[in-house]
Amino acid sequence: MNSEESQALFEEDSWKDRAVCPIKTTYGVGYRIKARVLPYLIGFVYLVPTSDSEWIMIDSGCGDEDSNADVENGFRIIREEYDHSFKLETISHLCLTHAHVDHAGGVYEFKRQTNAITAVHAFESRLVESYDEVARVENCRYARFLLESGVPPESVEAVLDGFGFRPGRLQSAAIDAPLYGWEKIGPLQAVYLPGHSSGHLAFLCGNAIFSGDLLLSKTLSQIWPARITPQTGVLNYVHSLLKLKTIALRYEELHGRKLTAFPAHEEPIFDVPARVDKALRGMERRNNRLLNLFREDASPMTLWEILPKMYWSGRPNREFFALSDIGSRVELFLQLNLLRVVDSERLSSSNPAIRYRFSFANAEAAKNTIKQIVGMRLPGDQSNLI
Ligand SMILES: [Zn+2]
Ligand SMILES: [Zn+2]
Repeated sequence: MNSEESQALFEEDSWKDRAVCPIKTTYGVGYRIKARVLPYLIGFVYLVPTSDSEWIMIDSGCGDEDSNADVENGFRIIREEYDHSFKLETISHLCLTHAHVDHAGGVYEFKRQTNAITAVHAFESRLVESYDEVARVENCRYARFLLESGVPPESVEAVLDGFGFRPGRLQSAAIDAPLYGWEKIGPLQAVYLPGHSSGHLAFLCGNAIFSGDLLLSKTLSQIWPARITPQTGVLNYVHSLLKLKTIALRYEELHGRKLTAFPAHEEPIFDVPARVDKALRGMERRNNRLLNLFREDASPMTLWEILPKMYWSGRPNREFFALSDIGSRVELFLQLNLLRVVDSERLSSSNPAIRYRFSFANAEAAKNTIKQIVGMRLPGDQSNLI
């Protein structure tokens, strides 16, 4: 089946709700398994065939009962409806795009069931192997971020509960192969694309790229301030989007056909460069909206005070995600000298809430913040990945 037919297959609405979708790539037939990876979120686990009649599993769901049951049901459907030779023992590798709970939570259970070699970027292997330790340390850092954001001290624990990165939530699992983003695992080429997380990887395979949470088909991915999660922030995220676009354009140039991105949530992306451009425009719009809120309101504001103005229909328990989104943009604006901190002399360790106001001296530079950073180069930036 060629890529046009594969595209037609996925554009059929009836496929979107299926528990298992075959993915027909130039490399071979793989599968997409749908799983309830968080109470409010659907995600996908992918299976990619190797030349030795084995399988590579990409991501693992969140590890709770519903998620594991959905993945196991997907395995059953593959065996009964598509490939009678499929067995759990033929899954040789379990590769993670990143170690967020909705991707890494199932590693313990599926490693136990398959004995697969587990692989994740080296920056995130500690999170999988020592989940409770990392969760305890990170929650202290996040609490500090929330206090600086102006969250009332008595609400900090509730906001962190809403985020849910709590000790005891996951069972830690051993990582056999820490990755750095240049490895080949069977037919997969790992590509380091940080920004949504410190060690975010995508996996190239024939005319498919399994792109994790870097780029989704409809919504903008979650971003975090680089000061609370290294290698994230707006700059790294935008540069990884651009790198993905370059990979897709070069693939098309070399092979005369398009590269299809299979994200970990939402539907496949058949025109990656166009979707990256649209995501960048979306980032720019959100930046401008936030900057305009500071510009229009003369009174200085904390991130917590600006939250309801920016996300008036915010879902309950989502404050940490929204604050991280705002915080990562404010971090960029401060670096670009577009915001000022008000009354900094009153800041102390017991009174860390930071109030910002727009820096009118730099109003001209505030325009097109994304366009400015798109032109910036990261150290060692190279585009000769494929
Ligand atoms: Zn994620
Ligand atoms: Zn995710």
